[in-house]
Amino acid sequence: MRYISTRGQTGPLGFSDAVATGLAPDGGLFLPETLPDFSGDLPRFERLGYAALCHEFMRVFATDLPAETLRELVNRSYAGFAHPDIAPLRRLDERTHVLELFHGPTLAFKDFALQLLGNLYEHQCRVRGGSINVLGATSGDTGAAAIHGLLGKPGTAIFILYPDGRVSPLQERQMACTGAANVHALAVDGTFDDAQAALKEIFGDQEFRLRHRLSAVNSINLARVLAQCVYYLYAWLRLPAAERSEAEFVVPTGNFGNVLAGWLLQQMGVPIRGFKVATNQNDILYRMFTTGEYRVGNVAPSLAPSMDIQVASNFERFIYFQVGRDPAQVRAIMRTFKDTGAWKFDDFDRGVFSASRCTDAEIPGIIQRVHRQYGYVADPHTACAFKELSSDRVSVVLATASPAKFPDTIRAAIGVEPTHPSLEALKARPVVKHRLAANASAIRAYRCACGLHRILRRVFCRLSAKTPGQ
Ligand SMILES: *Cc1c(COP(=O)(O)O)cnc(C)c1O
Repeated sequence: MRYISTRGQTGPLGFSDAVATGLAPDGGLFLPETLPDFSGDLPRFERLGYAALCHEFMRVFATDLPAETLRELVNRSYAGFAHPDIAPLRRLDERTHVLELFHGPTLAFKDFALQLLGNLYEHQCRVRGGSINVLGATSGDTGAAAIHGLLGKPGTAIFILYPDGRVSPLQERQMACTGAANVHALAVDGTFDDAQAALKEIFGDQEFRLRHRLSAVNSINLARVLAQCVYYLYAWLRLPAAERSEAEFVVPTGNFGNVLAGWLLQQMGVPIRGFKVATNQNDILYRMFTTGEYRVGNVAPSLAPSMDIQVASNFERFIYFQVGRDPAQVRAIMRTFKDTGAWKFDDFDRGVFSASRCTDAEIPGIIQRVHRQYGYVADPHTACAFKELSSDRVSVVLATASPAKFPDTIRAAIGVEPTHPSLEALKARPVVKHRLAANASAIRAYRCACGLHRILRRVFCRLSAKTPGQ
């Protein structure tokens, strides 16, 4: 299997190269050259446990890895999950199921992709020699999941920038209390956008990027999208046969990575009825699917912070299919969007998608109602998906984070504070973070013992350049 870019000016590349490259050099995102058809495999898949199913699925895509190597990497990726089903499907009532995606090491769905990506990176270092430095910016869950995907892995180092004081204390502890020497949690004196902008500039410098073997961790990596297809398949196989073709997956959505994976799986011959894109008050995708216009707005911080985005980076993959797989049209759309902040589709076909939007004012009430109705505690992201379930179909709500990650919001809503042993254990460990004041003297004073100070200095310089005169 080979991978092409949505913008048509890179590749095709093999799986390992596409994964190592991340963002295609032409600015596009990688997609399989042709989508396989799994419809004939579904009866055979029914008997498989999660890791075995993941292996069967991924081996169709990772054709440049020996089957046994892939099996070992996949097994290792899901061995640390705390639930025997990995992704348990729980029935709440006759028409409603919840797919729990928070039993991985950082208690959010991003572990599904980033555990596997971490193992793929480690494997590449081993067979190709050398090392890899992974850089990323996070507003919370991605950073923690990426760090836990690479924790202590030989040949790798990971640098995660996050806005100081703007991620939850537990999220910060998940990044800064690991005790691993290859993990660098960098608390930026600025916003998530400042951190993101600094990284973007660094990655734009090809020479620096190659010299330091930098790799980006973000939601556009091909391996992340493919790994996420698997839990949709697993859940679909666990539904009673009579409910399968009735099922709509309801997906708390930010960057469109999670729900895109489900939709791609449907394009590969799995008869899923539809998908609901559930946004919080940052509703670019809700507006997209209700009006056909993709228009950027301002990010308003919310109670569901991992969905606080306005540009949904994975949406470009959907656009590619929407315009009949024509890379020239993708390029034109993305250029117009970049220049003007908007794009209106003339004849937008929303197909199997519906959408809902949930404000901060609504989230506590929904958590309360779900608790009363089903005795189930939903985290604030999952609560957005519970806003309005269709009465004429079976809903599978994706629970993207453990409620224990958001104790304050849950306590305010239902009066009890959820806890989780792994989070309690973190509270006993020291926080090791590097504070990056975005000014020049702080940068000069900074001494990094990790041996990768040149990368850090570069990050600092970019940050300080944003606030001249301080
Ligand atoms: C990242 C995240 C989301 C949004 O997922 P996308 O793939 O960006 O749409 C939703 N909920 C939680 C808990 C997350 O961490």
